[in-house]
Amino acid sequence: MYYGNQSKYTRARPTARAAHHIAYFVPLPDDVQDYIRDNNDGKPPSANLLTHCRRELFHGQWACVIDDEFVHAYEHGIVVDCIDGVRRRLYPRIFTYSADYPEKMLLATLRDKGRCPCPRCLTTFDRIDRLGTREDIEARKLNTRAPTAEQDRLVQEARELIYDSGYVVNSDHVEALLREQSLVPTRNAFARLEPFGFNLLDALVVDQLHEFELGVWKAIFSQLVRILESVGSETVHELNKRFRQVPSFAWTTIRRFANNVCEMKRLAARDFEDILQGFYPRPTTMRS
Ligand SMILES: [Zn+2]
Repeated sequence: MYYGNQSKYTRARPTARAAHHIAYFVPLPDDVQDYIRDNNDGKPPSANLLTHCRRELFHGQWACVIDDEFVHAYEHGIVVDCIDGVRRRLYPRIFTYSADYPEKMLLATLRDKGRCPCPRCLTTFDRIDRLGTREDIEARKLNTRAPTAEQDRLVQEARELIYDSGYVVNSDHVEALLREQSLVPTRNAFARLEPFGFNLLDALVVDQLHEFELGVWKAIFSQLVRILESVGSETVHELNKRFRQVPSFAWTTIRRFANNVCEMKRLAARDFEDILQGFYPRPTTMRS
């Protein structure tokens, strides 16, 4: 947690210790397998059941954070006598949630790489290759996912089948309700904040670390070049031309691009790092 009105020049400096830890999340303990086996005629839990338990535990822990007290503070604020002698009303807010793809799906209570693999819209898996096209942009606007609370009716029905009628978590009856939109039978802990204007799907922003700065950058760059190629070879030439014009900076930090950046095969990981640096220049100290 950070104080939103603290200067960003303090907030963004790790040594300022401006970040405050609120909760530590525990993973599903290994001995849960023994517990299930002991209570299920000696049969071990299925992978689907364990996945379900992991989701339940994760959202159960979030529900401990987003409890009645938190929801009250979210709505009405908390009156605090601050150290500067001023009494202020503070409002806790969740602005952004940084997570990689599998964690985003866990958070959004959706299934990983399901029929609708996106946490924000209902674009189906077989249409992923249209990424970046005008058609895709339109489809995303038209098929935006409804707020979590609206999925809740289906989820609630599925949970009744599992917890009251004893159906298996991935049985046909449960799947018939959830598969269409890639939902899972777990209640989303964040749905409690939706009446106050919070939308979890908006908080799941593009994650700079996982989606650009780690290995997947190469895959994203390949896809961007493919999109350019589909528009016409002229555009690829233009990209190469522009990259050749990028001057070197601080010599060791960004090298000059002499080759055609689009010929992927010739590029080593180091070159991709340079291209990345070209897009997001850093202070040189961060590289040492
Ligand atoms: Zn989407």
